[in-house]
Amino acid sequence: MILILLGPPAAGKGTQAEGLEKRHGFRQVSTGDMLRAEDAHGSAIGHEAKAIMDRGELVPDRLIISLLDRRIAAEAGRDLILDGFPRTVPQAEALDRLLAARGLEVSGVIVIDVDDAALVERIVGRFTCADCGASYHDRTRPTRVPGVCDRCGGTEFVRRADDTPETVAARLAAYHEQTAPLLPYYRPQGKLFVVDGMAGIEAVAREIDSVVRGLAGGVAHAKVMRGN
Ligand code: AMP
Repeated sequence: MILILLGPPAAGKGTQAEGLEKRHGFRQVSTGDMLRAEDAHGSAIGHEAKAIMDRGELVPDRLIISLLDRRIAAEAGRDLILDGFPRTVPQAEALDRLLAARGLEVSGVIVIDVDDAALVERIVGRFTCADCGASYHDRTRPTRVPGVCDRCGGTEFVRRADDTPETVAARLAAYHEQTAPLLPYYRPQGKLFVVDGMAGIEAVAREIDSVVRGLAGGVAHAKVMRGN
């Protein structure tokens, strides 16, 4: 199954993708994480992407599509949850082509719908464990023991360079202008499911689980849950 998680920055895509990995055995494919890893390894792609990411803009389609193509080849046969890809209509078209070349197609697209006003606070407070990548938030999801990762006991944490109030506006603008047109791209295909991202993490996870169960059971896809 190939699922896409769509939503503005800090809608909870990464958190929900982690949950889908644990509960349903999906592999999370996060293009943002891939770009940050390229940068950490000092590659030419990472270098090119870093400056763009720090401005809150989208990296060029050609660059991200070739990264994604290689990753899909490497994940052959696995159930995937795409987190942060596609982000433009040309990326969605390229995804359709590269899946079709492997006899695959997008199974469903889950949109996590969140008010813009809530996103700034979510973005600015978030951090992750430097060792295992578990995600936290200063106010809504702190570690149980201050300074110690719940999952692995690590004591080093990182905050993303682009999680600043200054870049949030640019990232939201990129979402509304370049990524939101994906909704009318997928809706006529009957693949679009909208969940209420203002609900708590567990409530969102339950809604997503019911979509996944429906898709796995072959229930008619043309079901739009909210927000259309
Ligand atoms: P994310 O971790 O998904 O929030 O992505 C962080 C940043 O990486 C974005 O603001 C973009 O600059 C870049 N990025 C990630 N995925 C894509 C994509 N599919 N297309 C273009 N840029 C992307």
